[in-house]
Amino acid sequence: MKFQAYGIKDIDQIQQLRRLSEADRFAIKVVANVLPFRVNTYVIEQLIDWNNIPLDPIYQISFPQPGMLSSRHFHEFATLLKENAPSDQRRAAATKIHKELNPHPAGQQTLNVPKLDARPIEGVQHKYRETVLFFPRQGQSCFTYCTFCFRWPQFVREKELRIAASNSDALYAYLQSQPEVTDLLVTGGDPLVMKTSLLARYLTPLLREEFSHIQNIRIGTKALSYWPFRFLTDSDADDLLRLFETVVEKGRQLALMVHFNHWQELETEPVQKAISRLRSAGVILRSQSPILAHVNDAPDVWRIMWQKQLQLGIIPYYMFAVRDTGARNYFEIPLVKCWEIYRQALRQVSGLARTVRGPSMSCGPGKIELQGIAEVMGQKVMVLRFIQGRKSTWVQQPFFAEYNPDATWLDHLRPAFGEEKFFFEDEYNAMLSR
Ligand SMILES: *Cc1c(COP(=O)(O)O)cnc(C)c1O
Ligand code: SF4
Repeated sequence: MKFQAYGIKDIDQIQQLRRLSEADRFAIKVVANVLPFRVNTYVIEQLIDWNNIPLDPIYQISFPQPGMLSSRHFHEFATLLKENAPSDQRRAAATKIHKELNPHPAGQQTLNVPKLDARPIEGVQHKYRETVLFFPRQGQSCFTYCTFCFRWPQFVREKELRIAASNSDALYAYLQSQPEVTDLLVTGGDPLVMKTSLLARYLTPLLREEFSHIQNIRIGTKALSYWPFRFLTDSDADDLLRLFETVVEKGRQLALMVHFNHWQELETEPVQKAISRLRSAGVILRSQSPILAHVNDAPDVWRIMWQKQLQLGIIPYYMFAVRDTGARNYFEIPLVKCWEIYRQALRQVSGLARTVRGPSMSCGPGKIELQGIAEVMGQKVMVLRFIQGRKSTWVQQPFFAEYNPDATWLDHLRPAFGEEKFFFEDEYNAMLSR
């Protein structure tokens, strides 16, 4: 299959959308003017079940839906479009809305940016001791844009919202200065939109002796789901597999942090072939996904997805709560409900698939998991723990919040048992004010 992407200007050319009413197509255009929109031939032709729109989960994650904007923002923009407002006026209105959508949650543009010789390193984040994140500039787009994506500022026009590295020397120098770092996570966007030759230029230097502490090279990608041909028939697919093999031969782990939101994405022949090719090359596959209203908010969706992943050799890794950014209102689910779905699904799968952790919030202090609901001395509480902590002493520390069935994020939770603050708050606030 040949890669062809469709963006906002091509909405009228997508044959399958003709089954929608004029008003529905207009609504897609309105939302696509504000949130990034991009979809490709494979997603349209092989993933979406067009007999089941708008409910189809893949349609929901790839095509803008009217409810993704607040009705105020929606009407504001619909009016601009109807009046044929000039493009700079539309852009200004979109920029204004972006600023209201919390583009950089969890301290990404401040606390996470490491320094080398007192200068911040562009396109690198270091939040958890063992793992450094790298955002190569050429990897800041995707084969298709997810409507729920928390990385959406990477894809809009405003440059100051973007995180991206244009050269890797600072990254290498930083990694050499950090012997306790074991993992480099290449992320984006989707780094696999890059040509193999470019990816090789970034990764090959890390295989030298002076980087022997970088044992795990991880690549965060949704290519298996949105463009499995990246591993099959793209002109440099074989080179990519060979690059991965080289990493493995050098004794490092090459882990793809793959992203699947629904078992439907695991059903096609190309995705299954691609998975098997990657496994033959010695690549480890670990899967992660947010839990999303309209997409996967039912235990059976997760049960089937984890069972299929296990069968195909993918290790279920993370279930995330929807982050506090972008079209969050459309997708978010109370944490308690997320946990109930997680638990019901987990109960029905083999222990081999119970490797998945969650539901987890990626928030300022760390990755915080809701472990469950408990009753202590007649008081209902939420049991939480740090899976990852901005301070390593917080990791694996359980703590308690008052039961709140509506809370969707950490900032809605209050300490249980009449405590004034959570155990980490003083240390965290000290970090913030530094
Ligand atoms: C999730 C995450 C990591 C990786 O954490 P693991 O638990 O090792 O998978 C690293 N850095 C940031 C900023 C993250 O959000
Ligand atoms: S593939 Fe990942 S980075 Fe790209 S839009 Fe989807 S969630 Fe965001």
